[in-house]
Amino acid sequence: MPSKKSVPKTKSKPASKSKTKPTMKTSVHKKPVGNAKKAVKPAKAAKPALKKAAAPVVAPKPTGAIKPAKDRKATEVTTTKVRKIGVQVKGERAPRESRKPLPPAADFKYCYFFGDGQAEGKAEMRDLLGGKGANLAEMTNLGVTVPSGFTITTDACRLFYENNLSLPRWFDKHMREAMVRIEHSMGAKFGDAANPLLVSVRSGAKFSMPGMMDTILNLGLNEDTLKGIIAKTDNPRFGYDIYRRFISMFGNVVLGIDKDEFEEVISRKKKQRSIKHDASLSIDDLKEIVKAYKKLVVDKSGEPFPTDPWQQLQMARDAVFRSWNSPRAITYRAKYNIPSDLGTAVNVQAMVFGNMGDTSATGVGFTRNPSTGEKEFYGEYLVNAQGEDVVAGIRTPQPITQLEKVMPEAYKQLRKITTQLEQHYRDVQDFEFTIQEGRLYMLQTRTGKRTAQAAVKIAVDMVGEKLITRDEALMRIDPTELDQLLHPRIDPTAKLEVIAKGLAASPGAASGKVVFHADEAVRLAERGEKTILVRMETNPDDIAGMIASEGILTSRGGMTSHAAVVARGMGKPCVVGCEDIRVYEARRQFAIGTLVIKDKEIITINGTTGEVMLGEVPTIDPELSGEFGTFMQWADEVRKIGIRTNADTPQDAAVARKFGAEGIGLCRTEHMFFGKNRLPHIQAMILATTQADRQTALDRLFPFQKADFKGIFEAMQGLPVTIRTIDPPLHEFLPKREDVLKQLEELQGDPDKVDEVDRLKKIIERIDQLHEQNPMMGHRGCRLGITYPEITEMQVRAILTAAAELIKDGKQVFPEIMIPLVGHRNELANQKEIVLRVADLVMRKHKIEIPFLVGTMIEIPRAAVTADEIAQEAQFFSFGTNDLTQMTMGFSRDDAGKFLRYYYDKGILERDPFVTLDQTGVGQLVRMAKEKGRSVKPDLKLGVCGEHGGDPASIEFCYKVGLNYVSCSPFRVPIARLAAAQAVIREKQGKDVSKTAGSA
Ligand code: PEP
Ligand code: MG
Repeated sequence: MPSKKSVPKTKSKPASKSKTKPTMKTSVHKKPVGNAKKAVKPAKAAKPALKKAAAPVVAPKPTGAIKPAKDRKATEVTTTKVRKIGVQVKGERAPRESRKPLPPAADFKYCYFFGDGQAEGKAEMRDLLGGKGANLAEMTNLGVTVPSGFTITTDACRLFYENNLSLPRWFDKHMREAMVRIEHSMGAKFGDAANPLLVSVRSGAKFSMPGMMDTILNLGLNEDTLKGIIAKTDNPRFGYDIYRRFISMFGNVVLGIDKDEFEEVISRKKKQRSIKHDASLSIDDLKEIVKAYKKLVVDKSGEPFPTDPWQQLQMARDAVFRSWNSPRAITYRAKYNIPSDLGTAVNVQAMVFGNMGDTSATGVGFTRNPSTGEKEFYGEYLVNAQGEDVVAGIRTPQPITQLEKVMPEAYKQLRKITTQLEQHYRDVQDFEFTIQEGRLYMLQTRTGKRTAQAAVKIAVDMVGEKLITRDEALMRIDPTELDQLLHPRIDPTAKLEVIAKGLAASPGAASGKVVFHADEAVRLAERGEKTILVRMETNPDDIAGMIASEGILTSRGGMTSHAAVVARGMGKPCVVGCEDIRVYEARRQFAIGTLVIKDKEIITINGTTGEVMLGEVPTIDPELSGEFGTFMQWADEVRKIGIRTNADTPQDAAVARKFGAEGIGLCRTEHMFFGKNRLPHIQAMILATTQADRQTALDRLFPFQKADFKGIFEAMQGLPVTIRTIDPPLHEFLPKREDVLKQLEELQGDPDKVDEVDRLKKIIERIDQLHEQNPMMGHRGCRLGITYPEITEMQVRAILTAAAELIKDGKQVFPEIMIPLVGHRNELANQKEIVLRVADLVMRKHKIEIPFLVGTMIEIPRAAVTADEIAQEAQFFSFGTNDLTQMTMGFSRDDAGKFLRYYYDKGILERDPFVTLDQTGVGQLVRMAKEKGRSVKPDLKLGVCGEHGGDPASIEFCYKVGLNYVSCSPFRVPIARLAAAQAVIREKQGKDVSKTAGSA
């Protein structure tokens, strides 16, 4: 492909390339701590701690002082300082309004209590309380049983970063007041040896980041409180079990000690005692493990394990704040465009336990199937277990519907509450619960992440259920997500060599080389290779590899495991819990029985069925009817801007039509010259030294071009087709100089090859003649048609002859002939004269009228500035925003990638201007050209055919400017249709457009 055609890449790189600001270097998060699902459930605690206090519930403080963050006045802290909280990564610069000033100081409200049916927060306070905190408050207010707790605000997180990664001493007062309220509510006291209260400390940012930040459970334990727990529960094993879990979790998350070091202690003990499962460890074993853990902490951190519960709490809180800037959290934010300066809240909540015997359980679920969108109660649970057991793969979780048999009362209540939550939030809920001795506690609810397929079905179903309006349904889906629905799935008639079957966690098919480590997937992706990441299970540190791979296969874990949840969010095919396979990550291979699959062998996974196959498997096109059809029809009813496609072949045109394109906005004719049987003729044309020779070569190309155009016209069945005359510099059609030289060296001296040697020499001579220092601004576009008018003549003859022949066959054809790279009215006039002359000849020859238009691309700033002059020669304009961006910003389309990432890192640019239109610069030229053009011709047809035609924010801009259509690649057509509808809805709602942060 010629270099000019290297259309800008649309994918942003993972954040790994971003630079960390010096303030962030203090992060201690070197090791993974497991995903949120693993860590989110409280472990076991003392029975009495859960009893209600005899004392009356403390009334919430008046909340008059509380204002949503955005209402607050600026303080002495500058916005630049506030931005220290986040590491800037590509495309991630926070929108302005998220860079809020800090609230002042000691007398401000930083902790929001929830419990006993009343909460100080509510769902709308996500900015301040994070998603988790806001929803815990909302659930509490709805009367749902939630263990009492308090949320430390995101303002505190910002204060923490401003204050050199610590909080001022006065901050304790806020936490102590809130803690007293939990103590009253739970009838236990934090740090009290006789009646101890244990808490969990969990992160919770505004946008959900599953498993990306840290959690600490069972906090408040020390030798004294442990005795209290044991005395109250009469269960020493339970006491020591939660104690050792606490030490390892705290040791890892807060003190930065490698998780594996703790694992090793347990493994040694199990080996020594010849036991397989943790559950078989005796009390004495656990006691020894606790001792060994404490020694490990001293050895690794140089300090004894902190025994003061209050100090534990401060340290845990700070660790959660620091985890906002852990590498995996940064990578996740970059992927989902979540601003880096939002910060996280911290939730401190009384522990409840699902592992207090057979009347206790813990589980996670969704109110609808997040994979297919079916309206079915969906999830998993385990009796007598902790949250982490549900996803760890050690015990197989049960489908949630089974809970009805074992704990019918709790199940009934769970159904009732989750249905109520779905109705309340009017969206699918992803919830976590614990049943402690028969009593149900909700630990979390949030909007459920879902596949695109499920998202469309759920949106359409919810309109049917009158839960949401059509406009709401259309706004529920990020247009770029639709991409997931447009890609091929496994051909059902293909013969499959299924080697294993696991759980179908995220639909779609993917093939690629097997890799066993996330960084390997990243490395191969950088070389353009496709991979399937195969792991026993994934954890948040694998995030970059999950982004880089085509699909994920794990041997462990259920439908709610980390791999399943994250892959669904990304729309990647994923198979989990594939117990048929044994994964040897260190040896880089996996085995099924005696079959061994080695590193880099190709496999295919089918996330719709859970099947794993050897090799690459044939696929078929996606189904576009059903709910998807309905949804897209709604989008079409709302949108006002036309959607065309950029297509150069009948095949592409047919695909685009299927996806709903209303015409072709750009057919790059030069792409047709690259076929094996065409290239020699175009090369002969370039090598020709006389006009006659050039004409002979062009005459040979004519039938090919005519056939191409006929195919495209037929595929578009009467829709308008914009065909651009030749655009790239001619040298791009010649072979590389060094290749010709090499060939020449091989043939030189061979008496039979004299003619060939002569030809090659001529080619080198011509390559040298055509060489340009700056071909992008050189002999290309209309300049070629001006210097070689016979090229334009041949192309126009081919376009209009194809049209004439089809019209004679009774077909409808609407060609629009487009002249590229025009900067001066006279250039267009020159080429238009040729078009009109040839058209006249063709129409006379065929004795037929052909309806056609002549127009130009606006891709040179001068063309935009003189659009009123150019419009006098043109019947339409199509903005070539790729070149217009290149020439306006002075950034080479081919090379800008090398330095642009520094621009994002340093906050100079927010986004890649070749992906999202620079509205304040390049966009103003578009606006000016529209105004000037229409001042001369009020009905001048206007479109965009640069890459921006498929970018949602740019589409919204084009709609607002008043263009007639945008044109994009076939697979972006549905994305553009939805983005165009959303632009209209947002306009109705009076919202600004391009702020799509966290739209995942
Ligand atoms: C453009 O410049 O925006 C355009 C569509 O043309 P090309 O990408 O072929 O230069
Ligand atoms: Mg161009």
